[in-house]
Amino acid sequence: MANANVMDKIVSLAKRRGFVFQSSEIYGGLGSVWDYGPLGVELKKNLKERWWRSMVYQRDDIEGVDAAILMHPKVWEASGHVSGFTDPLVDCKQCKHRFRADDPRLKGTPGEPDAQCPVCGNKGTLTAPRLFNLMFKTFMGPVEEQAAVVYLRPETAQGIYVNYLNVLQSSRQKIPFGIAQIGKAFRNEITPGNFTFRTREFEQMEMQFFVKPGEDERWFEEWKAARMQWHADLGITAARLRFHPHAKDELAHYAKAAFDIEYEFPFGWQEFEGIHNRTDFDLGRHQEHSGKKLDYLDPATNTRFLPYVIETSLGADRLALVTLVDAYTEEEVEGEQRVVLRFLPAIAPIKAGVFPLVKKDGMPEFATRLAADLRHHLTVFYDDGGSIGRRYRRQDEAGTPFGITVDGQTLEDQTVTVRDRDTLRQERVAAVGLLAYLQARLVG
Ligand SMILES: [Zn+2]
Repeated sequence: MANANVMDKIVSLAKRRGFVFQSSEIYGGLGSVWDYGPLGVELKKNLKERWWRSMVYQRDDIEGVDAAILMHPKVWEASGHVSGFTDPLVDCKQCKHRFRADDPRLKGTPGEPDAQCPVCGNKGTLTAPRLFNLMFKTFMGPVEEQAAVVYLRPETAQGIYVNYLNVLQSSRQKIPFGIAQIGKAFRNEITPGNFTFRTREFEQMEMQFFVKPGEDERWFEEWKAARMQWHADLGITAARLRFHPHAKDELAHYAKAAFDIEYEFPFGWQEFEGIHNRTDFDLGRHQEHSGKKLDYLDPATNTRFLPYVIETSLGADRLALVTLVDAYTEEEVEGEQRVVLRFLPAIAPIKAGVFPLVKKDGMPEFATRLAADLRHHLTVFYDDGGSIGRRYRRQDEAGTPFGITVDGQTLEDQTVTVRDRDTLRQERVAAVGLLAYLQARLVG
């Protein structure tokens, strides 16, 4: 189903069912900025919690932090973002459009009279390429002047590096150990696109693992394997996942080795997580620019070294898009077309739909009570509108794994039917054991 048509259907479903809306839509929208609706916020929250559990709670060698978005401007000088985080851009003086210098639509040499603007068609109106920094800039305090410039962070990693000593000392960890963080970052991308894939405001789930130099290559391999396994455990189709190693000329200035984990979207193979060996570049730069010693005293050998960093950097929005695309299925059931999102039950926004078969004979009362009880433990959607078939279909489209129906027999023997979203099989389950039945199927 690798075609744009499928992507259009997913974008339309995402809006119709409340996964993703365009930001400020009633004002015409803001370019490449998106909002998560009632179902989308649950999906993304479930993914973030799952990542945090696997990184921070299930290991004793990783600690969490939540650093501020605004940081001292010197952080971005030390990291290289002020001087190096740039794209060469070309402006049209006539129509004011801006292009990346490598835009294939540009004809001729920008800055020369022969160059032609691909938007307004004028010749000689394109400027020579100029470097444009991708960081969003704002001013701290009451005065808008150069000295008050602060940036919205373009990556969350630096908030971890500048807190490395604080965490080391307060948590009593020893190297090797890691620091994990989930947070927003901002990049003024010139060519964003593909729905929520490339956006100007995005959320990252990053873990920086500090190791002894010489042990970095072993840890790099270990994290590469662990991260791929994590996506497999999430139920992502194996044939649509692959590693992409960065060739020497693709490597970032700070990296010794880098592997992307790519997913085959309808718009092609694209990276959604990166595993990087950042060496001691970042800690070295911060040590140099801050004047603070950041080296580590190894208690085993009584020697000092600057740790190497293995980074795993996953886009939360990209992961949400991967799960949405991977779950999307069209199929025929009893001669009827149905759209179903086959999320792993553990990450589904709504875990159970509760339906009275008809709106009489005490069924709505029983179903309402049942839904209220379940709500203490699970996300539940109560629906008594329309035929039972239509109610099932609505929950299929939301990716709800279980449909619970209260019918005539319920009032006689206190059992309900549970419909499985994927197999469509129905089972009668005692209402008193329903929660345990569902919980057993929501782990993993
Ligand atoms: Zn133009």
